[in-house]
Amino acid sequence: MALIVQKYGGTSVGSIEKIRKVAERVIESSERGNRLVVVLSAMAGQTDALIKLSKEITETPDPRELDVLMATGEQVSVSLFAMAVKSMGYDCHSLLGFQAAIHTDQVYGKARIRKVDTDRLLKELDEGRIVAVAGFQGIDEETNITTLGRGGSDTTAVALAAALNADLCEIFTDVEGVFSADPSICTHAKKLKRISYEEMLELASLGAKVLEIRSVEFAKKFNVPIHVRSSFTRNEGTMVAAENKEMEKILVSGIVFDRNQARITMVKVPDRPGIAFRIFTPVSKAGIVVDMIIQNTSAEGRADLTFTVTKTDFQKTIELVREVAKEIGAEKVLGDQDIAKVSLVGLGMRNHAGVATTMFEALSKENINISMISTSEIKISCVIEEKYIELAVRALHEAFGLGDEKQED
Ligand code: ADP
Ligand code: ASP
Ligand code: MG
Repeated sequence: MALIVQKYGGTSVGSIEKIRKVAERVIESSERGNRLVVVLSAMAGQTDALIKLSKEITETPDPRELDVLMATGEQVSVSLFAMAVKSMGYDCHSLLGFQAAIHTDQVYGKARIRKVDTDRLLKELDEGRIVAVAGFQGIDEETNITTLGRGGSDTTAVALAAALNADLCEIFTDVEGVFSADPSICTHAKKLKRISYEEMLELASLGAKVLEIRSVEFAKKFNVPIHVRSSFTRNEGTMVAAENKEMEKILVSGIVFDRNQARITMVKVPDRPGIAFRIFTPVSKAGIVVDMIIQNTSAEGRADLTFTVTKTDFQKTIELVREVAKEIGAEKVLGDQDIAKVSLVGLGMRNHAGVATTMFEALSKENINISMISTSEIKISCVIEEKYIELAVRALHEAFGLGDEKQED
């Protein structure tokens, strides 16, 4: 008897009809002899609608109360789902995050799961029920409700799979698996049969929202195999698992892009020890993550320093940096929000020269200017003008032959 954790995303439970379909599919799996824990997201658009409501009260809603509000989205879907299962003659209990004993830290809106006590979940399973768990939410030490960050139901599912030592974690979504590029903008994108945790971590952190990054971190740490597949078809999806020899042969697995990027340049910064420390300390203290950083060679004891943050953090960052610029006597601070980042990810890059050149060539053929570049062992990223991002993804997809049949195996 296998223990399986399944997760259905917002679009998969976006209407009563769809919730019924999910219930039927879960029952089928249970009929095949599996023990099932089913994690659900809020119905499509509901989390956004709740956030919008809070903004009607105030532009800066209290984080604790915002989490209480946002957590209601999943309460709705999980209860409707349990009703649907019961109406079909099977036993099911819905559990909210606190009932499923999902313990987190106290970072409202972006809480991390610390541990899951499985007693209640196991008891429900032992009593022969299908267990439905509200995704995206947990409880802190003081019993406050917390949420895990957007897309966090993936993390709930993988964390439960790890804690329960499940045989498999299935992520059901609105696409058939992980593709060589976002299929919504690249029609030639191919479904990948397998992808390593490392590559999936890069794809997730560089902007592919098909799996939330922390869910992949959990999966890698506890070696939980993930099957990403469609809620609407029966086709095999993508297995996300530990690296094997076959995976290494593939040079580039995917192209990914992120529009949520902005660039800040501090012009004519005095070039002396301790300056970078002065500039980035207030930024990191504010919990802002800086991504790429470039400093050009100095002329007359002054250099320009350019770095990127998310568009979401842009305003706050530029205010902090303008303060420091005044203190250290930098000439001025410039900001640009019309940028985006396009990246290549692949294990095969470790052992191949020339990947970057092919990337630069493909972008230059389209007349796309690269303003920043960063590389690591298995990825290369370029910052370009946002308006060219879709063109860049398609050009790179083509240049690396990712739409070719041979890439599918
Ligand atoms: P869910 O609501 O099921 O969690 P999400 O919207 O969070 O679904 O994630 C699925 C979406 O991720 C797809 O609709 C697709 O547009 C997007 N996506 C981005 N990059 C990729 C990729 N490389 N492969 C598959 N989907 C991707
Ligand atoms: N409902 C939450 C969101 O929209 C969590 C999730 O769907 O995974 O971000
Ligand atoms: Mg998601």
